[in-house]
This record gives sequence, C-alpha cells and structure tokens, in this order.
Amino acid sequence: MTSPLQLSDQEILNALSISEFAVAIYTSEEIIIQYASDAMIGFWGKDRNVIGKPLSEAVPELVGQEFIQLLQNVWKTGVTYHAKDTPAQLKIDGKLKTYFYDFTYRAVKNEAGEMQCILHTATDVTQLRSHSEQIQFLNEELTVLNEELGSSNEELSSSIQEYAIVNDALNETISELNKYKTDLESLNKELTKAEEMLRFSIDAAKIGTWFIDVKTRELITSDRLKELFGFYPNEEMPLNLFVNQISDEYRDNVAEAIETSIETGLEYHQTYSVIGFRDQRLRWVSASGKLYYDSEGNAAHFSGVIMDITEQKQDDMRKNDFIGMVSHELKTPLTSLSAYVQLMEAKSKKSGDSFGSGAMAKALLQVNKMKSMINGFLNISRLESGKIHLEKQQFDLNQLIIEIIEESEFVSSTHIIDFEPKNTHIVHADRDKIGNVILNLLSNAMKYSDDGKTISIACETFQGKVQVSIADQGKGISQQDQVRLFDRFYRVDNMDNKTISGFGIGLYLSAEIVNRHQGEMWVESELGKGSQFFFNIPIK
Ligand code: ADP
Repeated sequence: MTSPLQLSDQEILNALSISEFAVAIYTSEEIIIQYASDAMIGFWGKDRNVIGKPLSEAVPELVGQEFIQLLQNVWKTGVTYHAKDTPAQLKIDGKLKTYFYDFTYRAVKNEAGEMQCILHTATDVTQLRSHSEQIQFLNEELTVLNEELGSSNEELSSSIQEYAIVNDALNETISELNKYKTDLESLNKELTKAEEMLRFSIDAAKIGTWFIDVKTRELITSDRLKELFGFYPNEEMPLNLFVNQISDEYRDNVAEAIETSIETGLEYHQTYSVIGFRDQRLRWVSASGKLYYDSEGNAAHFSGVIMDITEQKQDDMRKNDFIGMVSHELKTPLTSLSAYVQLMEAKSKKSGDSFGSGAMAKALLQVNKMKSMINGFLNISRLESGKIHLEKQQFDLNQLIIEIIEESEFVSSTHIIDFEPKNTHIVHADRDKIGNVILNLLSNAMKYSDDGKTISIACETFQGKVQVSIADQGKGISQQDQVRLFDRFYRVDNMDNKTISGFGIGLYLSAEIVNRHQGEMWVESELGKGSQFFFNIPIK
C-alpha cells in the first residue's frame, strides 16, 4: 500500500502562492520577504525575484512611506497592526500611482512567545474607494437635493395653506351659488307659470304673436297670426309674404314703421287692414311691438302681438257712416239757414234796424260755428271710411297763413296774432286741408288762451321740410295729456274745458291730414305757460 503523497512546505507555499489572496511573510527586523503570493507581488508590480529580499529593496518606492516602519514596529513589539483604506504609492508598469488597501501585519509567534514572522494580508480597495467616493458625491448631491426638497416642501406647505384658504372661499362661493341656483330655480318655476298664464291669455284672447330676428329678418309667428293673415298653421310665412298681405294703402307705412322701430328702439303701434293670403278675407288688425336687446346691449329681436279688431272696426265704420249721414243731412238745412240769416242781416241793416242786424250778425256767428263743427264730423267720417282724398297743388304756405289770420281776425279779434313771413315757402299739398289744419291750430290757440294774449306763428324750412309752428300763452297741456291729444274724441278733462265747446276731433283730423302728406305733428307745452304746436310737410 502506498502512503498518500506528502507535500513539502515549499510545495504548499507554491500552491498557496497562486491563490487570489494577497499574502506575504516577512522575517527579521529587515523585513525580508520570505514568501509572497502572486497577488501580493502583483500589488507591488514586481516578479518572483523579490522573494528573499528585504522589502525596502524589493519595493524601493515604499521607502519613505510608513509601511516598512510599521512592519519593523510589529516585529519589535509583537503587536499585530490593522489598517483600512490606506493609500500606498506603488510603481506599476513604470508608473507611480496611489492605491488604497485594507491590510493586516499579523505578528506570528512561537510557543515561547518569540516573534517568528509577520503575516501580511492585503485587499486592494482602490476601486471600492472610487465607488465610495462616487457614493459620497451622490450622497452630497442627495443632501443638496434633500435640502431643496425641504424648502420646496415648506413652500408647498405654505401653498397648501393658501390653497386651503382659497378652498374655503371657494366653498363659500359654491354654497352661495347653490343658494342663487335654488332662488333661480324657484324664479324659473314662477316664470314658467307666468309664461303659461300669458300663453293661456294670449290663446284665449286670440292674439297672434310674432318675432323678427333683427340680423336675419327671419319672421317667426304663432299659428293664430298665420290664421289672421289667411295662412294655414303649418305653412311658412316669411316677412315679405306677411307684408304683402297688408292692404295697399297701409303696406308701405307698416313696413317703414317696423324698420323705424328696429332702428330707433321706439315702440311700434299700427292699425291696418290685411287681405287673407288664401281666404282673401279683409281683416282689421291692431299691432304693437317692441325691440329687445341681448345681454350685451345689442338689438336682438323685434317682437309683439297682433289683435283682430275687425268687429270693432266695423262698429266704428257703422258709427262713422251714421255721423257722416247725419252731418250731411244737417248741412243742407244749415246752408239755407245761413243764407236766410245773412239775408235778414242785410235787410235789417238796410232798414236801419240796428238791433235786428246785430242779432242776425251774432246768429250768423253761431251758424258758422255749427257749420265748422258739422264739417269736422263730415271730414272725420270721410277720413275713417277712406273717402278723404288729397288734391295737391303748388302754393305758397306763407300766403295761406296770412289768409287764415285775416279770416279769423275778421270773425273775432280777441288776440294779438304775430306772424312775420320772411321768404315764400312753396309746397305741393292739398291747400284746403292744410288750411283747415292751420285754422284748427289757430282757433285752439285762441280758445285755450285768454283774450289779449299773443299768438306767434312761424313758417320756416327745416331739414327738407316746411315747418309751421303756432305758439300761445294759454293754460298749457300736461305731459300725460300731450300723449293722447291727437287721439280721436280726446279732450283734456278739466273744469275750464267744460265751458269751452268742442268734440276733440280737431287735432285728430289735423294730425291725420298732416300724416297723409308724409308729415308729422307734435306739441311742446308746459302747464300754465302755454303751448306750441308744430307740423311739417315735405317741400315736394
Ligand atoms: P276740441 O278743441 O274740439 O276739444 P281738439 O282736438 O282741437 O278738440 O283739441 C283736443 C283737446 O286738446 C282740447 O279739448 C284741449 O283740451 C286741448 N288743446 C288743444 N289745443 C290746445 C291749446 N292750444 N292749449 C291748451 N289745450 C289745447
């Protein structure tokens, strides 16, 4: 039987020397290298020739560094020395560089406690160190970041506080908004109810409603309105067809009034007749409208209502016919009465009967008053039934005014009439009817101001129209009466007026005549100070 192979010490050392651990063994105070593993020799950057040499000779760059002295110290004291992360200058491949090592110089003693050798083990931590340097650098960066984060955190927490305040305010606003919402909802309900009631009333009163988009001029109407204009409910009725159904004599006026109201925002009120589109029926309607604005104050839509007033109109017509008929019948006996009175006046004068002639002159005055009243009624009935026609001619308005002043001064000269005609004012109009208008205004000025007061008349050209004004120093007219003054049969209701004869048709007739000349009539007045009536008519 062969005994197992026994390795000599040298063989063991040889085997160890190729291990990856860096190990060296030194002896004596000179630190003679007895043994060094390949790894240790690698650290030194030398070869195996170093074995047997003192360390100071084998690795001369160590001289002057602390290591040899440390080793000698261990040898002397027998105290093992540990070190970590210690720099050592070593020449590797001819270049002197700093490496870092964890190492131990272990004192190895015999049983008698005498130093035998020093066991040197080392680990190269250069790489680790550079990693740790990086880690330290990162750490520092991290600290800076952390600080920054800390201050951001503070900012964040103050922002959070602010946010909390804003949030509270927001919550308050939201709860207020919710309150408004509830209020709005209940208002909305009331509005819907009111709307329903309005719709019900509109339906019950058979009122037609319309809506014109100001921008597009699109017309939207209720079925009732279509019916009034002779259309079927499901039929389209654009604005042009709507206007087409209006009777010839009113069509232009109505279209113009709509445009004027849209432009000026003034309320629109018109009475006119229409001929039904399909049934060709004549209906009278009364229309009112108003311009509505959007939230930015721009004109948005023009809308309103239209009512069927055919029956009322027919009643009026019958009344008119009656007034016309009666006036006409009264006119004939009145004409002969006037002739007889004139005859009697002349006869009394001739026979020297001064009482008789005076009485007849007064009777004639009353007959003339009656005549003018009856003429007024006749005119009104003619006007209403459309039987009034303008007979236009060229004439000087100044001359007409002078004639009317002379005529009225001949009848009574109770007032001072002031008129200073400057240039001629030639107009193309119905001379008799414009004469009636001036006479009516002048006699009102006399009727409603005290005797001896001045009445000033002026005639001038203004913006392409001739404007006549008649001012008195009478009792004046209140604002609320001024609005209705030109209505048919309207008289101011006060004690004084009860003693002044009249039917409230003079101004109505006058305004109608002026309107038919494409003119306007208006009043400016203050209670107690007097009134000034104006009218204008186009020059041509
Ligand atoms: P009448 O004079 O026949 O009553 P008008 O139509 O001419 O009818 O006038 C209507 C009303 O207007 C009158 O009743 C009167 O109250 C008022 N009015 C007209 N002209 C004047 C005036 N110059 N001054 C004060 N009031 C006037």
